Parts: sequence; structure tokens; C-alpha cells
Amino acid sequence: MEKPLDNSRRDFLKTGILTAAATAAGLGAIDALSKTESASSGEKVKLLAPDGQIVEVDKSDINHILPDFPVENHIREGVAGKKFVMVIDLSRCKNAGKCRKACSKMHYLPEGRSFVKIERMQDAETTAPYWMPMTCFHCDNPPCTKVCPVDATFKLTDGRVAIDNTRCIGCRFCMVACPYSARVFNWGDELLAMSKENLEGIKEHAACSSHVIGTVEKCDFCPHKAKNNELPDCVTACPNGVFYFGDELEDVVSNGDETVRLSELIKEKAGYRFLEELGTKPRVYYLPPANRQFPFKEMPLDSIR
Ligand code: SF4
Repeated sequence: MEKPLDNSRRDFLKTGILTAAATAAGLGAIDALSKTESASSGEKVKLLAPDGQIVEVDKSDINHILPDFPVENHIREGVAGKKFVMVIDLSRCKNAGKCRKACSKMHYLPEGRSFVKIERMQDAETTAPYWMPMTCFHCDNPPCTKVCPVDATFKLTDGRVAIDNTRCIGCRFCMVACPYSARVFNWGDELLAMSKENLEGIKEHAACSSHVIGTVEKCDFCPHKAKNNELPDCVTACPNGVFYFGDELEDVVSNGDETVRLSELIKEKAGYRFLEELGTKPRVYYLPPANRQFPFKEMPLDSIR
């Protein structure tokens, strides 16, 4: 007959199972076990153990803890009273690439990598090609956040979609769900060597806590700038005034040179949202490549991506 477990051994096993399950699920945010016996809630929760087995635990045994950030940098809150929005004028883009460089610098990405892409577009064989910069669209109905199994990516009150890299488990479901390929995976082999100051800088300003190898990253609309009513670096770096950034609630956007009414700009220049039919409700509008300021010039692919 099997020997009954004494209390200490039972506690040890319980700790082991829950810790293993939480670790496997990447749940740094779960304090897996209260060491004291808690009253059972009767509600069971399934977790994935390191050996691939599903284990069932009582809900009362799990404590969700948010990462320990200072309140002013709390990544689950947006900037109060704001709804950030971007407008990209395709008639002005000549693929100068300054936005990409500024983004790389801002986010401590290696040269050549950026959260802004510039795509070569051509709508039909008979039409002229044009350049199309793309950021994360910070969709109001984002498919990426819905598929995250650990709630590591979420919508903020100010319209931005953010990632908590301390919580991300690198499953990359969000990358598959994003119809705009806005997300990138941090493979860890290309990051800039970061000085202590740089790391502190990132922690101070980023929507994501920092670059974390094995997690997903993307454009964050530069929240440290937005919070101080400043424009993101991609906007100010563009020599052609392609990017406008601002607040939908104030109905104002600026490209650094001119500040205009968002509603009028979109109305007068026939603004639209990319793949509107998907229902993602992007917070980035495009102005069509009509009356272009620059002739189209072909460029090698590595100057685009
Ligand atoms: Fe999510 Fe992609 Fe929309 Fe950004 S563009 S919010 S990553 S679905």
C-alpha cells in the first residue's frame, strides 16, 4: 500500500508542479504558489508543464503579479487624455530612409534593422510604383493582442498597442496574426552592444521594458516622446515631411513643419487606412501617392528593409 505523503512533502510537490508549470508557460508574472495552504476556489486552471503535459491547479494557488515598474512608467496605462494617431503622405516619400535610421537609433537596433519598413508598391502593371513606409498601425481592433496566450500584448487607453517583454514567451502567435507584418522577433544575435546608460535609457522610456532576447518587438509610437508632447523620431527625421503624428481627440497632427487639423487633412487629401476591409481599425492613415513630389527611383532591396 502506498505510504501517505506528509505535509512538507505534499507542499514541496505542489510548489514544484506550479513553479514548473508557470516557468514553462513563461509566466514570470505568476507567483506560482502561496506557500501557505489557501482555501480552494474549486475553479481549476490548466497550465503547461516543461515536459509538455497539461497540469490542472486550483485557481486560488495562482497569484498574478504585474512587473515591478515605477508608476509613471506603468506599461499597462496610456498617456491620459490622448488618442495618438499617425498620417503618412505617400506623395512625399522618396525612400530617403532617414525614418528607419532614426528608429534604429532610438530603439538601439543594429544598423539596417528598424521598426519602420518601406515597401515598394505598385497597384497594377500599368500604374507607377511608389514607396510606402509602414509602422505598427496600433489597430483599435488588433488581432495580435487577441491571440497572445499570456496577455503580454495589449491595447492602451491612448490608442497604442504595447508589448510587455517581461511577460512575452516568444510563441510568435501575434506575429502570425498581424496582417501587416509589423512585429519582429528578437533572435538576440544582432542587438547593439548596450552600455549600462543605454539600458537605463530604454527602461526609462520604452513601452516595452527593454529588448529581451526570445521575445517579440515592434514600433511603439515612442511613448516617452508622446508623453511630453514631442514627435516620434521617425517623424522629425524625415526630410520630406512624410509623417504626421498627433492626437485624434485634439484633432491635430504635425510633421514638424506644419501643424494641421487631422479631420481636414484626411478629408481634403482623400486619406484612407490600409486594408480597412480587415476590420482592424488601424490608427495610421495614408494619403494617396497623387501629385508626387519626387519621381520614383528604383533602389536595391537592402536599402528598403
Ligand atoms: Fe497588432 Fe499588427 Fe495592428 Fe500593430 S499593425 S496593432 S502588430 S495587428
